[in-house]
Amino acid sequence: MAAQAEIEHPRKAFGWAARDSSGLLSPFNFCRREPGEKDVAFRVLYCGICHSDLHSIKNEWGTSIYPMVPGHEVAGVVTEVGSKVEKFKVGDKVGVGCLVDSCRTCQNCCDNLENYCPQSTFTYGAKYRDGTITYGGYSDSMVADEHFVVRIPDRLPLDAAAPLLCAGITVYSPLRYYGLDKPGLHVGVVGLGGLGHMAVKFAKAFGAKVTVISTSPNKKEEAIQNLGADSFLISRDQDQMQAAMGTLDGIIDTVSAVHPLLPLIGLLKSHGKLVMVGAPEKPLELPVFPLLAGRKIVAGTLIGGLMETQEMIDFAAKHNVKPDIEVIPMDYVNTAMERLLKADVKYRFVIDIGNTLKF
Ligand code: NAP
Ligand code: ZN
Repeated sequence: MAAQAEIEHPRKAFGWAARDSSGLLSPFNFCRREPGEKDVAFRVLYCGICHSDLHSIKNEWGTSIYPMVPGHEVAGVVTEVGSKVEKFKVGDKVGVGCLVDSCRTCQNCCDNLENYCPQSTFTYGAKYRDGTITYGGYSDSMVADEHFVVRIPDRLPLDAAAPLLCAGITVYSPLRYYGLDKPGLHVGVVGLGGLGHMAVKFAKAFGAKVTVISTSPNKKEEAIQNLGADSFLISRDQDQMQAAMGTLDGIIDTVSAVHPLLPLIGLLKSHGKLVMVGAPEKPLELPVFPLLAGRKIVAGTLIGGLMETQEMIDFAAKHNVKPDIEVIPMDYVNTAMERLLKADVKYRFVIDIGNTLKF
């Protein structure tokens, strides 16, 4: 008998899924809904690999639903639109990020902050209102309400556009909201991975001076020469960290694992802001005294709303802000996950779904 995932909707779909918390993905048949009148269907061509995909397939946050088709940096070309779709037509280049639904009526939704809607629905590993499971972009097709679909400007290649849909918006939004988008400010970026390297690029595009704080000395030269960072600190080098105390107006912390906050708080000037973006599986220790002495702020942020995501992607196209990607075939995904865990990627894996996802 076919599994529920293959028969609950009429459209056949194919992708790669995790079946348990082993961290391994394998081919998977499932299905997608018939596009409704406000829905856009698109052929997936590229999908970025976010560290959240790795946390999720291993159930590190304790909320995973299996089988799980990850992927929330999904880019492709429209194949079909519902009768009431206004923004898109067949052939358009589009993307879907981390969200496929929200209540559309709460205060956050009315403020274009669907990402903070208590009923927002994540692109994979969540439940639609009808109780069926959401499956992400490591798959051949997507169907989503046009409100949750982003237009990809012609100037951006689809493979490089994909990581903007999560990594891009997740760092763009706090840079803007926390006022770290002003020329002349000094911004720190902790963790030079998918999110971190986008934070460097957006902060530079806003005119900031940028310091990378990293555990990987081998990333220094490239961070400065290719990404445009102004300086580079090795977080485990106490002398370097000591010399940079009190120099930063704000920090975007993208680290995916438990790490000490005390040295980072020390890098901030008075009134400086440490914005947490990374989502380690265990709580971090927050030393309070260094916050008091300097009126410093520790804050958090989660992806971004749809309006801001479109704004970010248009800004990226206009200012030529593009991720550095390593395009991989679908059957390399398990190796890519192992490398991601070791911080061995410069700086985002993108799966070439269109050419390499095979039945
Ligand atoms: P990533 O590409 O793996 O980058 C994370 C970076 O953190 C690594 O490249 C490494 O940079 C650093 N790092 C890793 N382990 C470390 C450790 N033990 N101590 C210190 N630094 C370490 O991951 P990503 O895709 O950018 O995602 C980063 C985090 O953000 C993940 O936890 C992810 O789930 C989360 N996330 C949050 C949101 C949100 O809305 N808030 C959205 C997307 C992702 P160096 O080599 O430079 O040290
Ligand atoms: Zn993500």
